[in-house]
Amino acid sequence: MRIETKCLHEGYTPKNGEPQAMPIYQSTTYNYESTEHIGKLFDLAADGHMYSRISNPTVAMVEEKIAALEGGVGALCTTSGQAASLISILNICSAGDHFLAASTIYGGTINLFAVTLKRLGIECTFIDPDASSEEVAALIRPNTRLIFGETIANPALTVFDIERFAKIAHEHNMPLIVDNTFATPVLCRPIEFGADIVIHSTTKYMDGHAIQVGGVIVDSGNFNWDNGRYPELVEPDESYHGVRYVESFGKAAFITKARTQLMRDFGAYPAAINAFLLNLGLETLAVRMERHCKNAQIVAEFLAANDKVEFVNYPGLATDPYHKLAEKYLPLGTSGVLSFSLKGGRDDAVKFMDSLQLASNVVHVADIRTCVLHPASETHRQLTDEQLVAAGITPGMIRFSVGLEHVEDILDDIKQALAKID
Ligand SMILES: *Cc1c(COP(=O)(O)O)cnc(C)c1O
Repeated sequence: MRIETKCLHEGYTPKNGEPQAMPIYQSTTYNYESTEHIGKLFDLAADGHMYSRISNPTVAMVEEKIAALEGGVGALCTTSGQAASLISILNICSAGDHFLAASTIYGGTINLFAVTLKRLGIECTFIDPDASSEEVAALIRPNTRLIFGETIANPALTVFDIERFAKIAHEHNMPLIVDNTFATPVLCRPIEFGADIVIHSTTKYMDGHAIQVGGVIVDSGNFNWDNGRYPELVEPDESYHGVRYVESFGKAAFITKARTQLMRDFGAYPAAINAFLLNLGLETLAVRMERHCKNAQIVAEFLAANDKVEFVNYPGLATDPYHKLAEKYLPLGTSGVLSFSLKGGRDDAVKFMDSLQLASNVVHVADIRTCVLHPASETHRQLTDEQLVAAGITPGMIRFSVGLEHVEDILDDIKQALAKID
């Protein structure tokens, strides 16, 4: 099946007389005829759901769909993108460990890595995604466990050279984790370029309608955890009856451990209704992404040609520094998100945003409706000036998320707001 078809048909195929739409199993628990069977579930010796903090039939169908879209062996849905980042890291990092992350990643992820994980004894070194492979390799220590980057960075819109970073990671026997939120599997499937784990904030394009906050972790099944560096996946897990994840679950070792150990303990599992809502978004994802890209390309070209605009970041523009990488990783388009700065800096940015009538001023992105945000005073206000620069953000930068309205209406709105700036 092609991706458009997978969006509609993976995860749930109704049998004779069954509901055409994916059913919502809104239940905390599941009924079994024997104590022995429940015992087997606890031992992971039988398939089945037991408690909706760990798995649920509706969520499981959505997990299966997303795993198929990304080309992974399994997936785990979470209550947010933040929970997906956290669990993907904690699954292989403990106090005393270290990892590398691109400095241009989402501001919330920077806080999680730089502040909260640091308090737990896990250290992150932020790297310039354009640093040479030698420079990156020089930062790898004996306790470095992974490399983390974003396919299209929010909001710097740098394109991550997935294949190059996968090679560096694999040369040092560690996995590459890629946040593929902005690209979605419709525009890029990082596993095909060597990523080992893919995560998403499903809150963004996957949902697309701004109706649920969620995340997901996808396991490629390709990384060899039995290389002497990841004993937590090889040695018996004392908290789970001595299960050995690699021995018992093979290619699905990482994602099984994330669910049975960390999800069990942290409880960041989504409700069935949210998985159902997410699935509605997934069904149209391929069609929506095509139009988002088409509209954004037109808006980016319009802004780039306007003399009130200082610069536009959009990898789809031939003049963008990341255009070459976009041609390789995102041949179908580079999403609906662009960022730009007005020559008048911060004051003009605020004036422009407050003058928009169609586009909404919201703390959100990657929605069907066009929306704008000012990173320096909103999502990234926690960051120091130094972190802002490293994240590719200037004080006057506007993040513009192009929706599915008619592109002429979007342009008319931009034109009238630009006219308010002298
Ligand atoms: C929004 C976002 C996150 C965090 O996701 P939430 O669902 O808001 O927790 C992580 N990564 C990227 C790229 C994002 O845009």
